[in-house]
Amino acid sequence: MTDPITATTALTITLLGTGTPLPDADRAGPATLIEGGGQSFLVDAGRGVLMRLTAAGIQAANLTAVLVTHLHSDHITDLGDLITAVWIGTFEPTPLNIVGPPGIAAVVEAILASLGSDICYRMAHHDDLTERPMVSVTEVTNGPVPLPGPVRVSCAPTDHRPADPSIGFRFDHEGAAVVTAGDTVPCAGLDGLCQGAQALVHTAIRKDVIAEIPIPRLLDVLDYHSSPEEAAQTAQRAAMDTLVLTHYMPAFPSGGGEDWRARAAEHFDGTIELGDDLHRVEVPAPE
Ligand SMILES: [Zn+2]
Repeated sequence: MTDPITATTALTITLLGTGTPLPDADRAGPATLIEGGGQSFLVDAGRGVLMRLTAAGIQAANLTAVLVTHLHSDHITDLGDLITAVWIGTFEPTPLNIVGPPGIAAVVEAILASLGSDICYRMAHHDDLTERPMVSVTEVTNGPVPLPGPVRVSCAPTDHRPADPSIGFRFDHEGAAVVTAGDTVPCAGLDGLCQGAQALVHTAIRKDVIAEIPIPRLLDVLDYHSSPEEAAQTAQRAAMDTLVLTHYMPAFPSGGGEDWRARAAEHFDGTIELGDDLHRVEVPAPE
């Protein structure tokens, strides 16, 4: 029997990690899974991403690519875990495609250097492990991302200064499109990426709450993130159908977040999605 919803789904969004740099027992670090056309794309690789990928039924070796929005630690902290999982979890040399802004190649090189001892131990111990980890790194800033189809991936600059460069990604499949903004303030690059797309996955922080906390290091984060209201305004400017909020700072308890939704709803007419890690959103193909 055909599920009438699944049959028309062009892209699926899974919030693998809805957390932030602040440790949280229930929320993994920033990571979002985009699936469509038999392909799987991981956007950012925060704390615990491999556990959440496993829970979502995805093996790291089957990812089409890992797409990194920027080089803040919370978005890349488990890249090494992914590299190792693909390397020792497959019996044929399997490349892991990593795409990110300029600087990602140096990060991956440093991660591989940090794994140097482990790589030597395992290659000496396992006769059938004859190749070092195969990692293919592509640095991009704007335009199409060179990956195999059927999902077409593109990117554009965002504004998360001084974390610069930063990029957002867009996934087009069967007439539907999903944009993952990453961390950014509202900006022309993100607006351009959202034009004609259906769903926007956007990190957000509650600026109204954080502004009341007298800790300078926390107050610093106000100027380079979007609030739920600002994320909603971005989605509204592009007349999108769905806004998916993630990266909840401060985090709300499981089942909560209605205050976040209400703030976004003041600025956006479409559907607002938020929730726990592994929350899934189906994006249908247009009629
Ligand atoms: Zn960031």
